[in-house]
Amino acid sequence: MAWMSPARAPEIGKPMALLLDVDGTLLEFAPRPDAVVVPPGLVRLLAALHDRLEGALALVSGRSIDTLDGLFDPLRLPAVGLHGIERRPAYGGAVDRLPVEPPSPRLLAAIGQAVRRYDSAFIEHKGSTLAVHHRLMKDGADLLHRELKQACAAEGGEWTTLRGRQVIELKPALADKGHGCEALFAHAPFAGRHAVAFGDDTTDLDMFAAVSRWGGTNISVGARIAGAGHLRLASPRQTLAVLLELDRAIAAGAPPHSALRQIVESTRAV
Ligand SMILES: [Mg+2]
Repeated sequence: MAWMSPARAPEIGKPMALLLDVDGTLLEFAPRPDAVVVPPGLVRLLAALHDRLEGALALVSGRSIDTLDGLFDPLRLPAVGLHGIERRPAYGGAVDRLPVEPPSPRLLAAIGQAVRRYDSAFIEHKGSTLAVHHRLMKDGADLLHRELKQACAAEGGEWTTLRGRQVIELKPALADKGHGCEALFAHAPFAGRHAVAFGDDTTDLDMFAAVSRWGGTNISVGARIAGAGHLRLASPRQTLAVLLELDRAIAAGAPPHSALRQIVESTRAV
């Protein structure tokens, strides 16, 4: 890993807020979304960092906040869920939901019809959004995406597709992770902090764009959006190593940005 642009190293002065995508960033991919494994120690690490950053640590995911709570139980971390439809700025607090309509029966029928043509593609129903997973398909994903885009277009612009890693998300057009993060930063403890976002996929680019507008720092994980961050990590395993080192450094009394800079500098020396 290396800073893509050393001039953009985090500035000391503002306290830090962490925005963490989950799948592919904190957790390795699995054949099905419900088969992911939360590595030992991750729950404890997130809890510790959340406390050290005075609550300014949020999960930012396409999953629902309910599902995130289940994965990281017993934590109820601040979160952006369902690509920005759900927002919970405070630990264990109420979840704000954008007033979006669930997918219409016509849209559901069109999606079902498209997906049935592909043996190993499957639909994940998430309430206000859907995901069509094609991680087990050898080819045909481009055609499937085209068909799903057409199904969304028939809804008059209210629905859109978002193509991620081996998944096509279908969601209301007005919601994205960037807007979700903006909603978090309207509240304490996030307001006024220097945002540091970790993400691995095209579905994180709206979050990266928001963080860039605020002068924050983006860290890409893996190869898919490697050019989009200021810092690049190879894998969720490296994300965890960096977060663990950051937690230890803050616990030892270092200010968060100095700690992150120090971790980067020690990595450069490798
Ligand atoms: Mg991801």
